[in-house]
Amino acid sequence: MIRYDLQCENGDAFDAWFGNSSDFDRLAAQGLVECPHCGSKAVAKAPMAPAIIRRRRRAPDGEKAPEKVTVGMAKQLREHIRDNYDYVGERFPEEARKMHDGEAEHRAIWGEASPEEAKQMLEDGLPVAPLPSSLAPIPPKKVN
Ligand SMILES: [Zn+2]
Repeated sequence: MIRYDLQCENGDAFDAWFGNSSDFDRLAAQGLVECPHCGSKAVAKAPMAPAIIRRRRRAPDGEKAPEKVTVGMAKQLREHIRDNYDYVGERFPEEARKMHDGEAEHRAIWGEASPEEAKQMLEDGLPVAPLPSSLAPIPPKKVN
C-alpha cells in the first residue's frame, strides 16, 4: 500500500491509499479518483511527495517472515521508489520532520526509522507511509 497526498483543480488537499504505485495513474486516468471536498475528478499528486520509511534491519534471527505480496507488485513498487525517491538512510525521521516544519524543501524521500520513530511521526501527522521490508528496494550506497 502506498499513500499519496493529492490535490484537486480547486486546490483541495486530501490523501488516499493505493494498492501500488501505478494504481493512482490508472484510476485517475479512468476518472475514478474524486476529490472528497468538491467532487472534482481533476486530481493530481500534491507537490509534497509522500515519504516512505523502511524499518531498520534487525538481527537475522529476529526477522519475521516477509509479508506475502505478488512478485510483480513488489518489483514495481521497489522500482518506483528507487527511481523517484531520494534515499536518506537513518536521517529519515530528521529529514521528514524538517520538511513537515517547513525548514527544508519538500521532496520525495525514503529511509529508515525504528518502529518507535515511525509511530511518533504518524502521531505527529507527518505524511509518511511505513513500508514492509519485503517491499523496500535495496538501499543505495550513496545517501542523498
Ligand atoms: Zn476539490
